[in-house]
Amino acid sequence: MGVSGSVEKVVEALRRIYPEASLELVFHNPFQLLMAVILSAQCTDERVNQATRLLFSRCAGPQDILALPPEKLEEILRPTGFFRNKAKAIRGCCRELVERYGGRVPQSLEELVRLPGVGRKTAAMVLGNAFGIQEGIAVDTHVQRVAQRLGLTSAKTPEKIETDLMRLLPKDDWTWFSNALILHGRRVCKARKPSCGACALSPWCPYPEKE
Ligand code: SF4
Repeated sequence: MGVSGSVEKVVEALRRIYPEASLELVFHNPFQLLMAVILSAQCTDERVNQATRLLFSRCAGPQDILALPPEKLEEILRPTGFFRNKAKAIRGCCRELVERYGGRVPQSLEELVRLPGVGRKTAAMVLGNAFGIQEGIAVDTHVQRVAQRLGLTSAKTPEKIETDLMRLLPKDDWTWFSNALILHGRRVCKARKPSCGACALSPWCPYPEKE
């Protein structure tokens, strides 16, 4: 079976297991998701959710975050790690949102990646999950690892992996596929010890260290 045949089977199996795959970050609007994804670098979603619950109870939008004393913002973000850098990125991003976009989150990849602290992964995640706009495939550490093990790409960088995946999948599936691989990477195809024996994708997975 060629790559395209395997891809179809992998997609079918993923759809059975994660039909409505969504992010595990809690958000109620695009602004909240943008903040949460920026904070999720090197941090679990659970910790991000704890921090954002407090943050969003005090701040409804970027103006409110800018009005917080910087040390208060750092204190709220402390549990997410690298909190000084994250506070700086969050403030920079909020400032741009206010100055350039009237406090709203822009709806194109091109505009989003110009915001401080926002790269392609964050932009694609926000567009897909908050606006339903499919402009890219968010490649985080889980998507990268699972896609490589499944043989869907031999590329090493997120940008090239994204390009490979975008060629393999119809646009309508981009956000769902990224979300599904993230869930699969967390629950089954873990970094150190993948549970290949319990993996529904195993028949089509060429990972050589598969048990
Ligand atoms: S078979 Fe193993 S390596 Fe392949 S996707 Fe499943 S858990 Fe990951």
